[in-house]
Amino acid sequence: MKQFRCGDVVPGCQWVARNEDEQQLFEEIHTHARDAHGMDEVPPEVLDAIQGVITEVQV
Ligand SMILES: [Zn+2]
Repeated sequence: MKQFRCGDVVPGCQWVARNEDEQQLFEEIHTHARDAHGMDEVPPEVLDAIQGVITEVQV
């Protein structure tokens, strides 16, 4: 299971997403970035930052 904590990229944000599938996880992240942070497009450097903080977690 892959986990992303938005607070690792956006200080103060409590949102956490988990998904088995990295592609689906990124779709969830895109939706959250748009709805919560007003990012219609997620810039490549932010995608890199996101990729860098995704961790593998045991369920
Ligand atoms: Zn967030």
